[in-house]
Amino acid sequence: MHEAERPSRKSVAATGRTTNEEVRQQNLSAVLTLVHTDGALSRSDIGSETGLNRSTVTGLVTELIEIGVACEASTTPTGRVGRPSLGVAADDDVVALSIRVEPDAITVALVGLGGSVHSRVRHDLASAPSPRRFAQITASLVDGMRADIDRHYRLIGAGVAVPGLVDQSGAVLLAPPLGWKRENIRARLEDALKMPVTVGNDASIGAMAEARFGIGRGVDNMLYLGGSLNGIGGGLVFDGTLLRGTSGFAGELGHTVVDPMGARCACGRRGCLGAEVSPGPIMKLLGRRKLDEDDIDIELGVAKDPRVTAELTRQVGILSTALTNFVNAFAPEVVVLSGYLGVLLATSRETLSDAVRVEPVGAEGRQVRLERARMRSRLMQIAPAELAFARLLADPVAHAPSR
Ligand SMILES: [Zn+2]
Repeated sequence: MHEAERPSRKSVAATGRTTNEEVRQQNLSAVLTLVHTDGALSRSDIGSETGLNRSTVTGLVTELIEIGVACEASTTPTGRVGRPSLGVAADDDVVALSIRVEPDAITVALVGLGGSVHSRVRHDLASAPSPRRFAQITASLVDGMRADIDRHYRLIGAGVAVPGLVDQSGAVLLAPPLGWKRENIRARLEDALKMPVTVGNDASIGAMAEARFGIGRGVDNMLYLGGSLNGIGGGLVFDGTLLRGTSGFAGELGHTVVDPMGARCACGRRGCLGAEVSPGPIMKLLGRRKLDEDDIDIELGVAKDPRVTAELTRQVGILSTALTNFVNAFAPEVVVLSGYLGVLLATSRETLSDAVRVEPVGAEGRQVRLERARMRSRLMQIAPAELAFARLLADPVAHAPSR
């Protein structure tokens, strides 16, 4: 299943064309998806969220607990007089491997269905790995986690985030930061890891995770843009579904050309947004080779160098123009900026806000919110695991891991 196929949180009733068994499967999916995204909930909250009656909810919850994908958990009281009560949560012992490949590192995290990151290992690289090397290193990192997994958890598979174009079969058509072209990464990793593997574009799955767990919750139309040294990736989540385009390649907003004479992009062209708006030049001016999102936030807060200020102003100007164009094209309710772009938002909120609220055509009648991604570095630990959980959430009985 592709990440775009999100199980609905709404329950269904049997109609002429659906059998009771299908209805039960869809309702189990709705309840498990709900506690997966919302955390521990009381049975009555599950009832009001899904529209199912009390005895139906009780039956569904009992079955989810029996097949080992949900568990009893205490819920936090919302009202002033509320007491913690016994509720239901997704079982964190059901886990997926979250794998991320970047030019300078491979990261593997063990993520629970309830959202816990149980463990995480990072393997630094001197240069971008070949697909073969990627599979080898990943397999050895997973081997190192295997004893812990076997002892404590039930593993359902792996999800992989790749900075590039990924088709529905899990093949990478092109990943410029890695130098990969037409590589069947899913087949290669399934062979190396001996488990089901799902592969997705890093920005697309980041957008879906932000829509489910972060700032995009409850938002119908969200435009997500994430920036890093590897470029800029985008994702459009409309009505809870990722806009995929032909073969799933939509959202490559980072390769929007903003200056045909500009800096060389990893894709081979000049002046792509991701090449012009990049932490690279800033890090060079700061004399730093490696900076994560939190570090660069701090460094820019205290930087006095006028060259840093000038470069920031230049980049924010380009990003503003691009954001105005994107709002004109997609009319999102919220624009979420993540990674390095979240850093730029923190330094230049006013300029960037004008770009989405004042500059677009017919701006007076629009309401566009500009937000920084809420999940920060945690986002890309959780997001790839969502790929692996998708099948389980869609049909818990068929895909529950054996105990
Ligand atoms: Zn490009």
